[in-house]
Amino acid sequence: MQRADSRTGGLIENVGRAAVLALAVAAASWWAMRYARGPAGLSMLWPGSGIVCGVMLVSARARWIWYLTGAFVAFAGVNALHNGLGGASVLLSLADVIEPTIVAWAVAGKVNDFADLSRVPSISVRASAATLAACALSAAVAVVALHGLPGFADTDRFAAWFASHVLGIVIFATLTVVAGLLGRNLFGVPGQRLAFFAELVLLAATCWLVFRTGLFPFPYIVFLPLLLVTFRRKFAGFALGTSLVAVFAMTAHASGYGPIANLAHFGEAWRALAMQVFVASTCLFTLPVAIVLTGRAALVKRLATSEREYRMLADYSRDLVIRFDANGMRRYISPSAHEMLGWSRDDLAMERWDLVHADDRPRLQQELAQLHARGGSTTVLYRVLRKDGRYVWIEANASLIPGADARFAPDVVYSGRDVTTRVIAEKALRNNERRLRAITANVPAIVLHVDKDERYTFCNAYAVRDLGLEESAMLGKHIAEVVDATDYLEIRPYVQAALGGRQVSFEIERVLRGHTRHYQSTYVPDVDEDGAVNGFYAVSFDITELKKAQRELLRLVRHDSLTGVANRLRFVERLELAVARSRRSHRPVALLYLDIDHFKQVNDTFGHAAGDAVLREFARRLSAHVRDVDLVARLGGDEFVIVLEQIESVADAQAIADKLLECMREPFALGQDANTTVSASVGIAFATHPVDDPETLLQKADAALYEAKRAGRNVWRMAG
Ligand code: GH3
Ligand code: MG
Repeated sequence: MQRADSRTGGLIENVGRAAVLALAVAAASWWAMRYARGPAGLSMLWPGSGIVCGVMLVSARARWIWYLTGAFVAFAGVNALHNGLGGASVLLSLADVIEPTIVAWAVAGKVNDFADLSRVPSISVRASAATLAACALSAAVAVVALHGLPGFADTDRFAAWFASHVLGIVIFATLTVVAGLLGRNLFGVPGQRLAFFAELVLLAATCWLVFRTGLFPFPYIVFLPLLLVTFRRKFAGFALGTSLVAVFAMTAHASGYGPIANLAHFGEAWRALAMQVFVASTCLFTLPVAIVLTGRAALVKRLATSEREYRMLADYSRDLVIRFDANGMRRYISPSAHEMLGWSRDDLAMERWDLVHADDRPRLQQELAQLHARGGSTTVLYRVLRKDGRYVWIEANASLIPGADARFAPDVVYSGRDVTTRVIAEKALRNNERRLRAITANVPAIVLHVDKDERYTFCNAYAVRDLGLEESAMLGKHIAEVVDATDYLEIRPYVQAALGGRQVSFEIERVLRGHTRHYQSTYVPDVDEDGAVNGFYAVSFDITELKKAQRELLRLVRHDSLTGVANRLRFVERLELAVARSRRSHRPVALLYLDIDHFKQVNDTFGHAAGDAVLREFARRLSAHVRDVDLVARLGGDEFVIVLEQIESVADAQAIADKLLECMREPFALGQDANTTVSASVGIAFATHPVDDPETLLQKADAALYEAKRAGRNVWRMAG
């Protein structure tokens, strides 16, 4: 039901529209036949086809058939009125609807493109060609329809039809299209309608003066108000103006008024042609003006839109956007200026070098001067005083752009961003870095950073001094390029462990400039926030001196401080070793246990210091009279032991004991001129396979010593 309703509604609407069009076409055609009749019996200006064409161009294709049918009926009615009912009238009406059909078909769909100026020429050419072809075809049909009727030659009829229909389409199709596109605004937008109406009245009055009264015998004076109305109203002015002139002029002319109608020495046909040329030239002169002005209006509108859009970008940007000319005069300041700096736009309207930090001013002025000289753009970083007295760091990009007047120097567009937080962070970073450098430069250790490709990225001043390498000889180099091959092989496992995320510490010995150095190194992985290892830090302390001290300490632990010979600790170790070796080799080992006789008396007589001197000399003589492989040790007090390994027999041990007793007979010097003699008693424990354990051996030697003492001293005794 609904669909049927809407179909019925559509039908009624289409019929209604077709009827309205038919009425308009009938009226225009009646006027054309009644008031614009020319020499060939045909109208000098035929608006009907143009009106139909215009209506079709601004309508959906589905309606075309309705409009064409309505128009055909209207044409047929008017033709029948003039030529009677018959085949000729039908043919002429057919000719009338051929034109809008062809032109509308050729230009359809392109009408809205008139807004795009670049498309206008091609559409105009297409429309003109279609108009000429359509009118030629319809003129041919008309000639056939009227052939044989008396009065006029076929060529005259063709020319008259062709000219009047071309003019009709050009003027009235344009008028109808403009009316269709503009609607009520065809007569101007509200507020301007009165002025538009006044301009049209002026145009009509001029036409009246020229064509009706003949007061101005120059028809072209009509161009003045016509150009005025076109200039001011563009396409609407063109369409309404040329229509008005055409209708007025043709009506007056056909009625015998006007300068051309009065040119008696021209024939009627020539006068009609002159009239058509006049009307055509009103179109030709004003159409370009309408096109150019419409295009310009579209451009201005587009420019205003884009300027508004870009301005909005700047207005809403958080960045500070300023445009100023070569004299520093501000052309634009974005609202963010107030937010960023606290100053109002008026505060910043002029150049304000006083707001730029004094330290940054010369640099900024120089940059701007260079920008003007060189062109392009530049980035500057400087401090600006906020209204609250604080300085903000601004990073700005300044670019040259053409000024308002191309003859003068270009403007500068400047967009700045508050980077205070970043600058402070960078400064803190630099401070940190400086501090770190100061610390690492003065710490007595080699501090290095190695990246994950095993290339040095940092070395402290100490490393440069200690390794004797310039920074440039290390930074960026691979470890293997800096240390020698054997050292690299040695540290490689630690490098890999550190790059694997494990902290490692180790000692390493390196030969630098001919000296053996010892280092205690720690590799600490450089792990970033994501847990990825970027490399490692290597901290190495030179422990050469420590090593030396350690060795000395070790020596001291095993030596007797008074005499310099081995102490009990060393003796015990050595005796165990000797026993173990003897057990393996089945070679004998001998232990001599010596004790100075009556040593207390030396102390008592000459003092403790003299006793010490005797002990030292005693130890020296012992050491001097045994071989290097034998060990002399002081067990404490005046007790000494000697471990003899490379001996063959008991006799060898006894011979050595004799030799030692013998060597003690020499007086011992005590100070400047005093001396004394001491003797010693010796207990000998000689062991061959199987050897006693060290304690038993020592006990046996001790027992033998006891025997020697008992035997009167200054003798040796063998352990049993
Ligand atoms: P003997 O013939 O029985 O061995 O008699 P002696 O006087 O030597 O007695 P003994 O061996 O028991 O005493 C050793 C003395 O050596 C006791 C102590 O006063 C002295 N003495 C021990 N250590 C030192 C020392 O480092 N320096 C000095 N000057 N005397 C020491
Ligand atoms: Mg003694």
